[in-house]
Amino acid sequence: MALVNMNDMLSQARQGHYAVGAFDLINLEFAEAILAAAEAQRAPVILSTAAVHFDYVNMKALAPSLVRLAEEASVPVALHLDHGTDLAMAAQAIRLGFTGVQVDTAHLPLADNIAVTREVVKLARAFDVSVEGELGYVAGHEGDHGHREIGDEPIYTEPDVAAVFTEATGIDCLAVSVGTVHGLLKGEPRIDFSRLKEIREATPVPLVIHGGSGLSQETYGQLVESGMCKINFYAELSRTAADSIRERLRQKPDSDNITHLLGGMRQAVRQAAENKIRIWGSAGKA
Ligand SMILES: [Zn+2]
Repeated sequence: MALVNMNDMLSQARQGHYAVGAFDLINLEFAEAILAAAEAQRAPVILSTAAVHFDYVNMKALAPSLVRLAEEASVPVALHLDHGTDLAMAAQAIRLGFTGVQVDTAHLPLADNIAVTREVVKLARAFDVSVEGELGYVAGHEGDHGHREIGDEPIYTEPDVAAVFTEATGIDCLAVSVGTVHGLLKGEPRIDFSRLKEIREATPVPLVIHGGSGLSQETYGQLVESGMCKINFYAELSRTAADSIRERLRQKPDSDNITHLLGGMRQAVRQAAENKIRIWGSAGKA
């Protein structure tokens, strides 16, 4: 198929009442596993790269491979910048061929969040790249994969602010804070579904949930039913990958066969992604 604009993909998801997985990757093995999962399930998919991982991932070096893999994939693929830090990072991602960008300025006062997001939209429009805005604060640390209690308090997205923000910025999709947490929690987070419904009614753009790991099948179903079109997913993939390597080393503690270890990891990540793609309803939608 091809590398596609994320906006088209999410508009279809909104119409079709399903959510597209935005899987954060940290290397080529993850990317190949995620794409293999999407192809096996005939699902559109978002290859997502989080700025917090850029001290580990050399994105300038990796991006050309991601673009190539996406172009050769048999399903629609969007390449997205997750939690970009500023306009310069968004510009670099666009230069590298990304088709969706987020610059996360949700921690700033609303007027500043609007001002920066508008600049990102202005830049991205010129290259037919879609923009994700964010309102509120999803607690926990992006890219964090440790088990822990909720350490800091979330700030929930206000429906009336969502309406103002969407209108003022021209964003294509909106990340909202309704009770999920970055990383893995002990126990299920409490999601404010009535707030989510109000947000959906207040804004016309597809909604995005961050911190999509560790939720029950029922909660995922409710999120999709409530209009969630993009689910960001990383912590569980990271744990799955680590578990796989641990298990193979447990079976063969003196193994020095790194392709066997990483091959097993790739297989495990693929299975985890396929499982979520089915639950989120995007299977068969490519
Ligand atoms: Zn996030």
